[in-house]
Amino acid sequence: MKAIRRFTVRTVLPEPLRQLEELVLNLRWSWHHETLDLFRAVDPALWKAVHHDPVRLLGEVAPERLAQLAGDRRFLRRLQDTAEDLREYLTAPRWYQSRADGPACIAYFSPEYGITAALPQYSGGLGILAGDHLKTASDLGVPILGVGLLYRHGYFSQSLSPDGWQLERYPPIDPNGLPLTLLRERDGTPVRVAIGLPKGNELHAQVWVVRVGRVPQLLLDSDVEDNDQAARDVTDRLYGGGGDHRLLQEMLLGIGGVRAIRAYCRITGHPAPEVFHTNEGHAGFLGLERIRELVSEDGLSFDEALEATRAGTVFTTHTPVPAGIDRFPRDLIGRYFGGANEEEQVPVDRILALGSEDYPGGDRTVFNMAVMGMRLAQRVNGVSELHGEVSREMFGGLWGGFDTAEVPVGSITNGVHAGTWVAREVLEFTARELPSVMESGRGWEGVRAVSEAEIWRMRGLLRRRLVLDARRRLRESWRQRGASEAEVSWIDDALDPGVLTIGFARRVPSYKRLTLMMSDPDRLRAILLDPDRPVQIVIAGKAHPADEGGKRLIQDIVRFADSEDVRHRIVFLPDYDMALGQLMVQGCDVWMNNPLRPLEACGTSGMKAALNGGLNLSIRDGWWDEWYDGQNGWAIPSADGLASPDRRDELEAAALYELIEDHVSVTFYDRDSADLPRRWLEMVKHTIATLGPKVLATRMLRDYVEDLYTPAAESERAMVADKFAGARTLAAWKQRVRRAWPHVAVEHVESNGEESPQVGARLTVRVVVNLGGLDPDDVAVEIAYGRVDDADALVDPTHLELEEAESAENGRRRYTGEVPLGRSGAFGYSVRVVPSHPLLSGRAEMGLVALPPAPQGMTNGDLR
Ligand SMILES: *Cc1c(COP(=O)(O)O)cnc(C)c1O
Repeated sequence: MKAIRRFTVRTVLPEPLRQLEELVLNLRWSWHHETLDLFRAVDPALWKAVHHDPVRLLGEVAPERLAQLAGDRRFLRRLQDTAEDLREYLTAPRWYQSRADGPACIAYFSPEYGITAALPQYSGGLGILAGDHLKTASDLGVPILGVGLLYRHGYFSQSLSPDGWQLERYPPIDPNGLPLTLLRERDGTPVRVAIGLPKGNELHAQVWVVRVGRVPQLLLDSDVEDNDQAARDVTDRLYGGGGDHRLLQEMLLGIGGVRAIRAYCRITGHPAPEVFHTNEGHAGFLGLERIRELVSEDGLSFDEALEATRAGTVFTTHTPVPAGIDRFPRDLIGRYFGGANEEEQVPVDRILALGSEDYPGGDRTVFNMAVMGMRLAQRVNGVSELHGEVSREMFGGLWGGFDTAEVPVGSITNGVHAGTWVAREVLEFTARELPSVMESGRGWEGVRAVSEAEIWRMRGLLRRRLVLDARRRLRESWRQRGASEAEVSWIDDALDPGVLTIGFARRVPSYKRLTLMMSDPDRLRAILLDPDRPVQIVIAGKAHPADEGGKRLIQDIVRFADSEDVRHRIVFLPDYDMALGQLMVQGCDVWMNNPLRPLEACGTSGMKAALNGGLNLSIRDGWWDEWYDGQNGWAIPSADGLASPDRRDELEAAALYELIEDHVSVTFYDRDSADLPRRWLEMVKHTIATLGPKVLATRMLRDYVEDLYTPAAESERAMVADKFAGARTLAAWKQRVRRAWPHVAVEHVESNGEESPQVGARLTVRVVVNLGGLDPDDVAVEIAYGRVDDADALVDPTHLELEEAESAENGRRRYTGEVPLGRSGAFGYSVRVVPSHPLLSGRAEMGLVALPPAPQGMTNGDLR
């Protein structure tokens, strides 16, 4: 009989062991090896059986064993030490505490979080990054408060059918069987958050609190009795369903998330967030809720509330793939935010305008969450330099009239959390050899003095661990696909701990090209089976359940890997998750990545490999475009720009094979008399020395604090101070400027000087501007000058603000300035008027610009 309800009975720990619960309930254990050692010591066999899940361990350990431990003085001393270490970690000042002016709290919203394999609430890079962000915030003492949803079925677990087709299972999780506590009012009743729905209905949620070291995380869960079944299922699974289901999840995350924060701060006295950071567009509705609060509680107008909200909001975009951007039909938004559910403070037409693609090339029928995110945030960033560039191009329509380079979207390159991704042995080795590295990020060059034999020994150990675990996983998968015990005996010798090991693990959207390596199966076969320099490849990845094409790619790989002649050299390991990810990035010698440039926004798995002494073999996309230096791995030449996708794949695959045959395997198998691959080890050292300080999430988080969180907090304070005087002023000013702007014009431009001036000369430029009724203080009149290309476009122009010379008649003003002609060659200039106000984040913020009538403004000349 099937149980109709499932729950977990929590163990009552004997008094002397009470601190175990404190340790389990703080997820710091997921990156703290001493705490994991302690859990293992509770019952080593059971620890293995529960796959290192401490909550299950405590749930299943025998009472006799607990009684025994309660009398074990050595165990109790260890427990005491570990618990004290945690308390010290939670309270001692860290990096952030030495700074002034940072926000008192930053709310971080993400639809998914990868914290540990035991909490399967992530699908891929976005979630893993969010998890690493929280853990690093904890390590650095950055006061982040995480917000997300708790999915009853998380993301799916993957297995394979006998013919290699992806199968999905959605095992339910029981929150009581996880390291979560329910947020309760002081009187003990569980907190309920509700959001309005059409037809007067409400969606209710309870709130779970997770402790990620010092960082609290709030997860909303709609599986409560006040909801009907459909509403209970809103948080059933990550990225499940489409349309309404997805929209409801995002409404709960954004609007419910802000309400959960308010409840949490009210009950615990936690400081209110000054800055809100939204990890991708999914949580964008949080801005609407904050506008609603400001309108109803502080009496601001919608526009004033919008300014106050924008000032303290940071929006990070994560993908240049159009299909990865969240878009809803406009009428769906109209249905959910209009009619009886319309809040008078946030009129539905204002909401629709925020997400509207009302720029050239936009689709007028959709509501775009990323576009809304950008309109609700004064600060926007991509996740690598290249992705920043691509995003400026992609979203440039929102700032029409400005050159792409001026579009106010910056970038902070992602990083990874060392404590999570670096093998314990490597961490301990590093702590011994390079003590200051992990804490301060300094001293990485010291790795060059470390013994090569020692590094090689460590790499061998990690490769062997991967091989042994891969065999276990492979056996399990074959058995599950229906093979008999006799049919899996070959697996005892599958993979080889001494063979060059290439890893490839990622989600399987088409741009990541899982099967590029199979473009020429015979050539791949020859590489794998090379008698002198064999290569083995370990592959993992999940296709989205609705992505039939992705599942076909997996099937192609699995069928190839099933072939008797190569199956000991190429394996597909099902159910790519954090645990398998850790194993692979630690054990592989080479981390391969071949996305279609520039569609990989950043990519982080290669960073994890680098920190473990693996070498990257990758298309120059995302982070690798930025930090590949010719010595720290290999760049697969990209044929981007080629019109034919097939031809492009073919060229890039050929380049990949050639690199493996002529460079990667040659270097790996080139041994000295001590059997060490000297050149390889040099590359490993160079990788660690140069990439180590860059790829750490501590670098990333410091960048966020210094470049985005602190300036956002300053902007937010400027808006809020003095009963929102800043927000009121800015909103009124923007309205005035927008009204006047159609009348602002550059009416006349002239420059004196010879036709062919010489380098070192100065050009005097005079401009007449019609301010359309605005004051001179409301605008900046700028000259842009510099090199021009063949089409007369200015390349990386310098901007110089012109001085107001005198007022002319009829509200016109004269401006003048001098341009130094600093370099020879083709030179040009142009003039523009832009809005200017101290509370704007930059010139392009409003997307308004007035340019001279086309031919007159540009004077090109050749400088001798
Ligand atoms: C690191 C990681 C990712 C993201 O890696 P990419 O390089 O961005 O593909 C995805 N899934 C898991 C399990 C990871 O550990």
